[in-house]
Amino acid sequence: MATIKKIYAYEIIDSRSYPTIEGKLILDNGIEVTTAIPAGTSIGKYEAVELRDNDPARFDGMGVTKAVANINNLIAPKLVGTSPLKQQEVDMWMCKLDGTPTKSKLGANSILTVSQLLIKAAAADLKVPLFRYINSLYFSLFKSQISIERMPTPIFNIINGGKHANNNLEFQEFHLIPSSSLTFSRAYQIGIEIYHELKRVLTYRNANISQGEEGGFTPNFTTNIDAIEVLVETINQKNLRPGVDVFLGLDIAPSYFYKDGKYHIKDKPHPLNVDEFLKFIEKIISDYSMLSLEDPIYEDDWKSWQKLNQTIPSHIYLVGDDLLTTNKSRLERAIKEKACTTILIKPNQIGSITETLEVINVALNNKFNYTVSHRSGETNDSFIADFAVGVQADFVKFGAPARGERVAKYNRLWEIEREELKK
Ligand code: PEP
Ligand code: MG
Repeated sequence: MATIKKIYAYEIIDSRSYPTIEGKLILDNGIEVTTAIPAGTSIGKYEAVELRDNDPARFDGMGVTKAVANINNLIAPKLVGTSPLKQQEVDMWMCKLDGTPTKSKLGANSILTVSQLLIKAAAADLKVPLFRYINSLYFSLFKSQISIERMPTPIFNIINGGKHANNNLEFQEFHLIPSSSLTFSRAYQIGIEIYHELKRVLTYRNANISQGEEGGFTPNFTTNIDAIEVLVETINQKNLRPGVDVFLGLDIAPSYFYKDGKYHIKDKPHPLNVDEFLKFIEKIISDYSMLSLEDPIYEDDWKSWQKLNQTIPSHIYLVGDDLLTTNKSRLERAIKEKACTTILIKPNQIGSITETLEVINVALNNKFNYTVSHRSGETNDSFIADFAVGVQADFVKFGAPARGERVAKYNRLWEIEREELKK
């Protein structure tokens, strides 16, 4: 088995025009792999720390030269001669080297770069597709087999609001979700055709068709409900049946509009207290064909999450993103308190592949669902597409079916379906 000859990292620019880390790992047999790290815009309070330079003289303070130097000077030299198969050992060593509960010393972005490089190098050296190696790593860590049988269902974020756009929508993401009974290629095609139809509907309504951070459109509407209505109109235009062929979803991400204990939305003439807001959410659920509801409630209000989880119809995936931040102890709390049913998995929220797989293991052991997600700041690395197939996520959320950094991931899923799973 080959060993690591060299690891090095440097800055590249992400889809939001901010620096992020790209790294390379070269094995002693000449195999070389590259990976890049995403970054969030609406970052949950409990995420691991993304190390930024905070030097206003460079890239508005968003440089990552300190995080890059941590890889090049502190981590990489110590890993020369190590086998890339030692994923858990290396991940745990990096966590120990960091020594803080939130990875604030080395940065979750530094640690995850090396963690992803390792897993990619191991797969390349073994000459197996990345998703298959991720799947076998899960087995070797937990002695439990996830059998690879299907492709995840895509959740397309086709209208952007909140922190991801400069329009007036408070809700962050408006999702189109093709039925899980469809093949990935069919679901992808439907997502793309709806995306184009939505553009026509918005144009006809004199609304803005510029794109937000994740490739969705950024119309101004009077209310958030108007945006949902436009999605329904678009689906009807294509003669698809809401609730049968396609479903809707939302990432409400209320940290953007939750102020002084109240939810401030244009749908209502006055700010809502949590009970009024829960009623509003319940009305949306009963009026529209919702399948997935992410972060409907502020991330510190566990009681209201519990309350909603008791009343929400059981077919709706109640998803914790900012609530759970891919964090094992927060997931364990959610399981114990029955706060939601689904965890959004973003490896950079926790900062290493081994810990991300541990979270998936807890979810699987407790029949908790998981959706694998991109970040608003992305690169063309399609790592998470392989990751989602390797752990057999029910859903993936990679943004709109548009923009290079989003379709890099959807296209990789398409490739896996076409060339690997149909063999
Ligand atoms: C999200 O909130 O689900 C998301 C993908 O956005 P960000 O990456 O900005 O956290
Ligand atoms: Mg979210």
